[in-house]
Amino acid sequence: MNKEILKDINVLYVEDEDDVREFTSKTISTIVNSVVTAKNGVEGLEKFEENKDINLILTDINMPKMGGLEMCAEIRKVDNEIPIVITSAHSDPGFLKKAIDVKVSAYAMKPIDLYHLIESMIKAVEPIFLRKKLEHVNLTLANKVEEAINQTKSILDAQDNMVILTDLEKTIDANKKFLEYFEVKNLKDFLQKYNSLLDVLKKDNNLLKKDIFEDSKNWISKLSNLSEIDRIVKIKNKNGEDRVFTINIDDYEQKGEHYVISFTDITELKEKSNLLEYQANHDQLTGLFNRQKFNEIFKKEIKREKRYKNNLSLIIFDIDNFKSINDEFGHNVGDEVLKVIAKVLLESIREHDCVARWGGEEFLVLLPQTDEYGAKKVAEKIREAIAKYKKEDLPKQITASFGIAKLKEDDDEVSILKKADDALYEAKKKGKNRVEVF
Ligand code: GH3
Ligand code: MG
Ligand code: MG
Repeated sequence: MNKEILKDINVLYVEDEDDVREFTSKTISTIVNSVVTAKNGVEGLEKFEENKDINLILTDINMPKMGGLEMCAEIRKVDNEIPIVITSAHSDPGFLKKAIDVKVSAYAMKPIDLYHLIESMIKAVEPIFLRKKLEHVNLTLANKVEEAINQTKSILDAQDNMVILTDLEKTIDANKKFLEYFEVKNLKDFLQKYNSLLDVLKKDNNLLKKDIFEDSKNWISKLSNLSEIDRIVKIKNKNGEDRVFTINIDDYEQKGEHYVISFTDITELKEKSNLLEYQANHDQLTGLFNRQKFNEIFKKEIKREKRYKNNLSLIIFDIDNFKSINDEFGHNVGDEVLKVIAKVLLESIREHDCVARWGGEEFLVLLPQTDEYGAKKVAEKIREAIAKYKKEDLPKQITASFGIAKLKEDDDEVSILKKADDALYEAKKKGKNRVEVF
């Protein structure tokens, strides 16, 4: 770690938890020039306006009054360059997109690991530091070429990110991190092995709009005109694993001749973001959609089926005498039964039928383009599959009762569910382990 580059930095640190704020600011103040603190986004904005010499923002996301990302969006309106580091134990699945939209430079997840935090701060400050240094090196001065190249090289090698220096036609230099990633000794070897950077990116750009690379003369300017969320690429590393990077392009002399292209590895962040999105939409125990996600799909489906005058049916089912399973075998066994039921359910339906865990031991199946007769067949199939299921993973024979309703003109998601629920009640009343249509 190159802590040196932080020593002239003035930090605005925004965090609502008093303990965390005090402890962290105390620690980082020994490394940076100064730290100004704020308790929330509103206060953060005020402090940012008061202190013109701030050159790094360090902020939490979820805070009262104004969150960190909203604050950063405001700051971005007046300052498009200042590096931003996010510290958060966030639970917002849209986080990655929002973070990239406000051009966050680096992330340190909570609980704060100070080593990682400082590393993130260095990463965030690096591009600006790099630009300043490179500005002093005039590559076009003929008599200085050798010296300039050497100087550039040592600057680039000090970077934590993969960095290359390029003109519009060809790559001029690549730093140590870059060469290590591709397991080559020098740029010449890289070009021999991969032909060009463009070829490497082309091969694996399912995250990036394809036509960017069609135009081999203008891809750099095309790429730099994209918003940052669209500048995400996958690149295979030497072990054949895909890593995910955001690309940053800097025309550091502002002459349109030489560019610094840096790649920031956001693989963990991306995985975390995917995971959060998954967690927000799925039931933890069974892995089925949860109530919230089901409602979202349900509303869309109802609109669509009404527009095209298609049938739409809903099945609700509830495990019979489930309370007695818990009472007899314990809650953990009850949980296992729910998992088995979810598995059996998934095996009994079409791939595009939407299923969800609606509550404790209640499940929903949404059947687009299916009338009540079709739905009854599906329900019978699930009912039989459950009733027939015999394995060591069930403590005793399980059955379930089913209610079905078909969408009518004046139904919405609440009324159709109520109808299906009434039918389910009928099925329970008539002796359970059966299907009733509303
Ligand atoms: P019925 O045949 O009328 O549906 O009777 P039942 O016993 O299945 O219905 P009831 O609604 O009386 O009980 C449901 C039970 O489901 C009570 C609750 O403790 C249990 N339950 C709800 N969620 C979970 C869960 O996540 N895990 C476990 N193990 N049990 C759960
Ligand atoms: Mg039940
Ligand atoms: Mg119940």
